[in-house]
Amino acid sequence: MVTRRIAVVGAGVGGLAAAAFLHRGGHEVTLFERFAAPRPLGSGLVIQPVGLAVLEALGAGDMARAHGAAVARMRGNDGARRVLAVAYPADAPGLAMHRASLFHVLWQVVQGLGVPVVTDATVTEAPLIAGKRRLSGDHGAFDLVVDAAGAGSPLSPLQARALPFGAIWGHVPWPSDTRLSRNELAQAYRGAARMAGILPIGPLPGDDTPRAAVFWSMPVDQLDQWPQADLATWKAEVTQLWPAMADFLDGITSTTQMTTARYTHGTLARPYAPALVHIGDAAHRASPQLGQGANMALLDAAALASAIATNPWEDALPAYARMRRWHVRSYQALSAAFTPMYQSDSRILPALRNRLLAPASEWLVVRQMLTRLVAGNLLHPLAGGVMPKSPLFAGLSGAHR
Ligand SMILES: Cc1cc2nc3c(=O)[nH]c(=O)nc-3n(C[C@H](O)[C@H](O)[C@H](O)COP(=O)(O)OP(=O)(O)OC[C@H]3O[C@@H](n4cnc5c(N)ncnc54)[C@H](O)[C@@H]3O)c2cc1C
Repeated sequence: MVTRRIAVVGAGVGGLAAAAFLHRGGHEVTLFERFAAPRPLGSGLVIQPVGLAVLEALGAGDMARAHGAAVARMRGNDGARRVLAVAYPADAPGLAMHRASLFHVLWQVVQGLGVPVVTDATVTEAPLIAGKRRLSGDHGAFDLVVDAAGAGSPLSPLQARALPFGAIWGHVPWPSDTRLSRNELAQAYRGAARMAGILPIGPLPGDDTPRAAVFWSMPVDQLDQWPQADLATWKAEVTQLWPAMADFLDGITSTTQMTTARYTHGTLARPYAPALVHIGDAAHRASPQLGQGANMALLDAAALASAIATNPWEDALPAYARMRRWHVRSYQALSAAFTPMYQSDSRILPALRNRLLAPASEWLVVRQMLTRLVAGNLLHPLAGGVMPKSPLFAGLSGAHR
């Protein structure tokens, strides 16, 4: 095996996982991150069984479980009507955690392996010179640059479409007197114009207190005004929609506790160029409605390392793209179809959701499909038969039952 010099740009979910896999694969890997001290942004997310299988393959499954909360079900109500009810298989629950916890887990892996990390390094371009890529700064030439710089990547040609709705996200200690279950994602809707959600996320790093992520969907033009919003008026609107959320809102005393999030949607047709490959949000972006973004970044990292380990160097990037193509495209299409049913001004789409999709989800076959959809294995996440041969992914065998 030839040792390649590889730069990974971005110490987020995909970049940390890719750096660990590629370092373990015997390559000379350097991770570049724009922040002076790598830090996580955002709030709660769900690691689906396929994403957890990648963390297992990195030897981080137990650490991740210790920093998250097992989620057995997802449910949502529009008024008194139950319009979302999805259960995970009993032996493969989702794992909800704060992004800080996922970052902590992956950071431990990268630190444990001794992967060099260059911080305070904002990469703006990676020109191709004599078959190799160079980064801004004096870092020499690289056989490959892995673009894991997320949704705003300056290296990615992806032109994503801004979505009309975003959300505010925060986290609070799990209230002792709530009747809500600590192993389910619960949501309440008013049509598609409003959505409130509570996700149990377990403890934050360095703290034992179990916590909940709370979120509230709103049109993007209202997100700009959020910092000046009157908290009491907002809490009254939320609790009118969902009285059970009141216990969770007690922990929010300032608008600064809730972070605004805007979403975009788009997919690169070809996620690579000579000596450059895009993974995670740099390659495909979607709303978090299906809860797949972090999982997709983890799967991309796993696929890339497997493609490099099992193909001639010149075939590795097309092989990575083939492994992920249909899984990524089908989830992107489903996310585009489902998101407006939950976040839009439409009256027709939430009515269809309530009157057609919700009753249909009672049927066994639809229920099973929804479970697979959410779990991330509607299609094989790493197609092409390369994955099972690679010792990197022994832990993935349970991911596509
Ligand atoms: C509110 C919200 C909720 C979400 N919920 C879920 C969920 O439930 N389930 C799920 O799977 N996903 C969810 N996601 C999506 C998920 O967080 C992202 O898809 C995932 O983090 C993408 O990983 P990434 O590695 O591509 O990018 P990121 O994790 O964003 O990492 C990018 C890294 O690159 C660095 N960087 C950026 N530009 C540069 C540069 N020029 N030079 C150097 N470094 C740079 C950044 O500082 C960052 O560290 C959610 C997202 C949001 C916003």
